[in-house]
Amino acid sequence: MRREDEFGFEKIIEVYDQKTGMQGVCAIHNTARGPGKGGIRMVPDVTTEEVMGLARAMTWKNAMADLPFGGAKSGIKADPKAMTPAKKEEMMRAFARKIKEVVPGEYIAGPDMNVTEKEMAEFADEIGTPKACTGKPSNIGGLPHELGSTGFGVAVCTRVAVKHMGKDLHGMTVAIEGFGNVGTFAMKFLEEWGAKVVAVSDSKGTIYEKDGLKYADLMKIKAEKGTVTAAHGEKLDAAKLFELPVDILIPGARPDVIHPGNVNHIHAKIVSEAANLPAKYEVEQVLMKKGVVVLPDFVANAGGVISSYCETMGWDSGKMFKVVEDKITNNTKVMLERTKDHDTRKAAMEIAKERVRESMIKRGWLAK
Ligand code: NAD
Repeated sequence: MRREDEFGFEKIIEVYDQKTGMQGVCAIHNTARGPGKGGIRMVPDVTTEEVMGLARAMTWKNAMADLPFGGAKSGIKADPKAMTPAKKEEMMRAFARKIKEVVPGEYIAGPDMNVTEKEMAEFADEIGTPKACTGKPSNIGGLPHELGSTGFGVAVCTRVAVKHMGKDLHGMTVAIEGFGNVGTFAMKFLEEWGAKVVAVSDSKGTIYEKDGLKYADLMKIKAEKGTVTAAHGEKLDAAKLFELPVDILIPGARPDVIHPGNVNHIHAKIVSEAANLPAKYEVEQVLMKKGVVVLPDFVANAGGVISSYCETMGWDSGKMFKVVEDKITNNTKVMLERTKDHDTRKAAMEIAKERVRESMIKRGWLAK
């Protein structure tokens, strides 16, 4: 990966702590709009290249969400499953100490793979300020993802797209892949706004009910039986969900679930990307060429980063939901108005880059 382009990277800090053996990296791509914001992942095979790619993606995501944040990301090379909780804490604290000089001025952390609110509390404690990170426990000013900001944002983005097409969400059919944090809240709000969710999947398979599934029933069944497939309806393979005759398809669990092998079997007119990278750009383009409205991941699932911003402002959950709604509504509209030849991702990237460029010019980092 190229380390330099007109936007970044500003800093790539590789650290090693002799005492704990902690090895980590913090990549700060661009801070023109504000401190680089991005999570810390703790995985045994994390690489500097991977962290850099994620940091760059955060620059576009935060700019497209219209937040005063730049893009950054961190990785700690360790396997938390193979260590005691005390060792994991030592690693997190050692990482915090090593990157302290850039936090929170140039970098604000957050949770990512294998990093939870517990480690965020340790990180903030080690840096010495709650401003060091988001995703902290609520007793120290955190706004947990369990509130459902991301799923809510996905539902808002979908609602805007439906309206933009001159249609009504009422009675439109929806299929949702994944019934975790994002999928459950996307279903809850779409149902509240009149859509008919006819299919939901989890790791055990898909449940399909033409007359519509009910959010409250699925929550109860998932809690009791451990899977949505125990609900009333036709039980299908997990992969079948993508090919069902629905108006709106929400991939909300795993990457690359829409691929060359199934893209031509998709019936939905709107694909609302709740998960990260559910389809490669070439695959999205196949859908776009057919006139499908693809709501790109970094636009549709930005509710989480917007909630993080609200946390840094010290706002409560009521204000957070309002800010998520306003920002996602506005950003989705701006993207759809800019879109040519159905290429929503291209339009969103252009908007994000323009916003970053504008901030860089204001700061005198780029000539007009
Ligand atoms: P989660 O762990 O809460 O839920 C994942 C769900 O996917 C579970 O219900 C699981 O059963 C289901 N699943 C696993 N394998 C499956 C399969 N083969 N078929 C169908 N379902 C399967 O995760 P989450 O937080 O809801 O995140 C889901 C996606 O959204 C991820 O790609 C994540 O990166 C992305 N995302 C999440 C957030 C957030 O705030 N949680 C923010 C942005 C993006």
